[in-house]
Amino acid sequence: MPQEKVLTITSTILFCWIAIIIAWERISPYRKGLKFFREGFWIDLVWYTLIQSYFLKILIFDYIIAPMQRHWDLSHFHLVSNWPVAVQVLFFLLTHDLYIYLFHRFQHSNKFFWRIHEAHHSGKEVDFLAGSRSHVVEIIINQTIEFAPIILLGADPVVVPIKAMLDAMFGMFIHGNIKVNMGKLKYIINSPQLHLWHHANYIEVFHANFATKFSFWDYLFKSVYDPGHAPGDKPENWGLYYDYPRDYFLQHAFSVKRFDEQKLLKYPLFNWYYNLRPRLMNRFGKMLPAKLTTVKKAEKKSEPAVAIPQEENILQ
Ligand SMILES: [Zn+2]
Ligand SMILES: [Zn+2]
Repeated sequence: MPQEKVLTITSTILFCWIAIIIAWERISPYRKGLKFFREGFWIDLVWYTLIQSYFLKILIFDYIIAPMQRHWDLSHFHLVSNWPVAVQVLFFLLTHDLYIYLFHRFQHSNKFFWRIHEAHHSGKEVDFLAGSRSHVVEIIINQTIEFAPIILLGADPVVVPIKAMLDAMFGMFIHGNIKVNMGKLKYIINSPQLHLWHHANYIEVFHANFATKFSFWDYLFKSVYDPGHAPGDKPENWGLYYDYPRDYFLQHAFSVKRFDEQKLLKYPLFNWYYNLRPRLMNRFGKMLPAKLTTVKKAEKKSEPAVAIPQEENILQ
């Protein structure tokens, strides 16, 4: 099948899936009252989903994997290229999912690598879009390790868009604010039932539910946490227990150097930049019906949902 046709099909499926997930979140919400334009919505959509993804796709495929291919092209061994496309997709799906489980678990137990993962946990209102929030370095590492073997081993070129589509579909599903009972399927397929708990601010789950697509890794390696009830609806029940910047660039700077975002507001230039987006949103909002404007004031600091002994917890 020509690559262009595959791209059209995968894009169509993806757009249909987005519509299904948005409708599903409305019909059967996990947390009731979570707004569509929730806190951090525009950061996740504009910066993480559109701008960051666009530039990282170019960087990863054209400037990392393409030079790798020139040096280590293994396609002439035909290790996977003779397999049916479905088997190739399944093979890369399983092997990458095991890698991402192990690397994700490692990130939660290593101070350095936590710094490039905490962004993903920073949202206190988790929905289908929240999965897009990932540090630049985390994406570069994970997507290079995901797509380089597909290209270097000479898999069918359609495997890349199919795999990318499945990544996006699973990402939206497991982060979706959806109440879904997976039944026995929960032992195989990951879902909001397990992954939303991974985004909760409870010490019991700081080192649990690491799976991305297949939940059986968590059951196999005994890292599953499934108490049978939801974490709660309060902001302090979710996200990080410590303050985290709200701005995209500061979120990345925070991984290198800790600071208090609010204290930077005393610098006029920073203050101008920091309030630029709310100002633009306000101006834009005046052109929209009132209920679509969602610019919020900075939230009050929340206490963590559970008392966390500092020395026991590396997540800081
Ligand atoms: Zn995590
Ligand atoms: Zn997540």
